Amino acid sequence: MGSLWTEVQLLKPDQNLAPDAHAARSVIARMIADSPAVSRRDIVEVTGLARSTIDGHLQVLFDAGLIEDAGLGGSPTRGRPAQVFRIGTARGVVLVADVAVETTRLAIATLDKNMVDSTEVAIRVDVGPDELLRALAGEFTALLERNGLGLGDCLALSVGLPGPVDSHLGFAVRPPLMPGWDGYGVCAFMAQAFGCDVIVDNDVNLMALGEARALGGEHLPLLMMHLGTGVGAGFVGEDGRLLHGADGAAADVGHIQVRGTAEQKNVLCSCGNRGCIEAVASVPAMAARVSAASSSPVNSEQLLERLVRGDATTVSTVRETAALLGRTIADLVNFCNPARIVLNGAVTDCTEDVLAQVRSVVYQQAQPLATRNLSVVHSRLGSEAGLIGGMISGIEQVLSPRGIQYHTRSTSSNMLPLGLDPMAQLKVSARASR
Ligand SMILES: [Zn+2]
Repeated sequence: MGSLWTEVQLLKPDQNLAPDAHAARSVIARMIADSPAVSRRDIVEVTGLARSTIDGHLQVLFDAGLIEDAGLGGSPTRGRPAQVFRIGTARGVVLVADVAVETTRLAIATLDKNMVDSTEVAIRVDVGPDELLRALAGEFTALLERNGLGLGDCLALSVGLPGPVDSHLGFAVRPPLMPGWDGYGVCAFMAQAFGCDVIVDNDVNLMALGEARALGGEHLPLLMMHLGTGVGAGFVGEDGRLLHGADGAAADVGHIQVRGTAEQKNVLCSCGNRGCIEAVASVPAMAARVSAASSSPVNSEQLLERLVRGDATTVSTVRETAALLGRTIADLVNFCNPARIVLNGAVTDCTEDVLAQVRSVVYQQAQPLATRNLSVVHSRLGSEAGLIGGMISGIEQVLSPRGIQYHTRSTSSNMLPLGLDPMAQLKVSARASR
């Protein structure tokens, strides 16, 4: 009678139901990081832990400098004022590198999300990892020094790269715009230089993370589309996590084939294939088409100038490109049903045309259920999205269970920073993807 399906397995229970001490401290520390004054009573309400357990966790975080005493506070309607805590700002800083094809932006930030200082380094990514990373290490050291900080003050370092990044091992894999970077140990190089956890992600993933955290949970899932030297995307799911996929390649949409004319499908892409959306919709690709239609060569900067002053050929090229981009985005909407699509990049920022075209094509071509509550908007963080996303990923790393364990370790501990311990890297990735 019937069929016995013993090989069908139920989803395993959420392991967070029985958090270890580091996981509990991570929850408490992030709660304190997101509010100016958190009392023990607030923590009891959120975690359900016993007061004595919470006291133990607070003491460990306090001793490590990850939280600070913020005096007396709390709600005036809820009895006498209680001791409150805020996130520690004297313990050190998170270092952020937002690497783009032509230039890299660096910043340092404290755990209270204060971007203390930043700088820009005009070195192209195609000089190769040796030269670029050595230059970035030098610039970071100078940035720390001018803020009275040193190597011992580095809590974590977050790097965004303009190419596909292996999210387990933290390096770029066959990145089309980054010759020489394939498999180069970015994490190991930076962890060696700064002695802290190093995390590496795709640049547009970090933009998506920054935008998602700035907007709040009601705007999730969020799909970030970035139009620059390449075409990239990042997806933050309804649980607030970046979608990395099995290896980190998720949302790397630049090499999906364009739904365009035979001519557009034949354009050679930097990846070696023909007709990728990046080969026709990136800013250099648009500039090349405007050049072909004009009497003089037009570079990316000049394309923006022409667009701003309303040059007819440029406006028409940008509109046509936006319609192509809209078709690809409509397919993505049918697949992942985001609540919000965010367009980012210099071209989209300086005109309403791209947004209007994409919006029109997406509403026309995506399924009604997928567009019912969908908004298609400009990025709120604009050109700051990558740097802010990197800051968030760095802070979340410091305040993760693994980060808390690392920063509260005893002097005799032999824990290595992420980047120098490949086994730890694999374990952390496996945990993060659950
Ligand atoms: Zn391609």
